[in-house]
Amino acid sequence: MQRREFLKRGALYGAAAVVAPQLLMSCASNTAQRGDVIQSKHQGKMKLSFFPYELKLRHTFTVATYTRTTTPGVQVRIEYEGKVGHGEASMPPYLGYTLDGTLAFLQKVDLSEFASPFLIEDILDYVDHLEEGQTPAKAAIDIALHDLIGQLCDRPLYEILGYNPDKTPSTSFTIGIDTPEVVRKKTLECADKFNVLKVKVGYDGDEQMIKTIREITQLPLVVDANQGWTDRQMALDKIYWLKSQGVQMIEQPMPKTMLDDTAWLTQHSPLPVYADESVQRLKDLPKLKGAFHGINIKLMKSTGVREAVRMMNYARAEGMRVMIGCMTETSAAVTAAATLSPLVDFADLDGNLLIANDLYEGVTVVKGRLTLPNRPGLGLIEL
Ligand code: MG
Repeated sequence: MQRREFLKRGALYGAAAVVAPQLLMSCASNTAQRGDVIQSKHQGKMKLSFFPYELKLRHTFTVATYTRTTTPGVQVRIEYEGKVGHGEASMPPYLGYTLDGTLAFLQKVDLSEFASPFLIEDILDYVDHLEEGQTPAKAAIDIALHDLIGQLCDRPLYEILGYNPDKTPSTSFTIGIDTPEVVRKKTLECADKFNVLKVKVGYDGDEQMIKTIREITQLPLVVDANQGWTDRQMALDKIYWLKSQGVQMIEQPMPKTMLDDTAWLTQHSPLPVYADESVQRLKDLPKLKGAFHGINIKLMKSTGVREAVRMMNYARAEGMRVMIGCMTETSAAVTAAATLSPLVDFADLDGNLLIANDLYEGVTVVKGRLTLPNRPGLGLIEL
């Protein structure tokens, strides 16, 4: 074994030894939530396999339009020349994709016609044209290929993409809709670990929620209405009040079907207004110009890293701001998203922190800031 390889492995094992007691516990619970590993029937130089993995939320999660305790997911592996790339599909119900649909799509994927993962553009074009939609499954393949390429090059993915890991932003941490007692408790738990908090609004009790948080901390806040407001003047009044409370931006204030009203609101808003539910992929961006100040890119909507980068470039060319967000996901998909974070105005990457059964150590939050692992690919260590 070469010295460099030895040191690398030593570092990995050392890290694993430090966290061993927690790992043993999480491994026990993780095993119970894994479905059977499915090997793709199309096997070539690249070996694709995947398994269902249900994400368990630490707290019941409530926003303006739904409440839930788990998120269906699928973990994807692509193996090539002794390296294994990790990817992931997360399917929160509001996105409209199911576990069965995701598994059926992955069964169709035939990588045997491609000589290597370095043909990533060809591969992802092929995957994208297999079927309409299925964006989480497509993201899983995209993320696994990016991880794999980094590992084959023995470089972190951010280096291969040319992004500066010292320029990662702080991530917000989300406080879901809840009773004042629970909101107080959650705020106390996270106020000294993060530099900005994200608050779900867009329902009757949201002013109380902001006031409850303000009793505890003066941290900057951002808010997400999740399409909760349907009266533009009421929404504008709300945004002025939120600004007076130290809120810095607002995400998806109105339903995605109310684009004209949203454009009016954006023109009058004293805070930047970002699109989330209104934007899925690159093709959605032209119609949003003028209706929002910025867009929230999520890999599970964008089909992964490749199209997320295209969306960032398009938004910048149109003078729009960019934030990067996530679903509830393990550290596989969250680390892939965090890799792009040096280029964004705002990051909301707490999905791995909101689940109780993460499978990996990847990106971490240090003094509120996203910190990328200095390891090849996504730098994931399996727990
Ligand atoms: Mg949102």
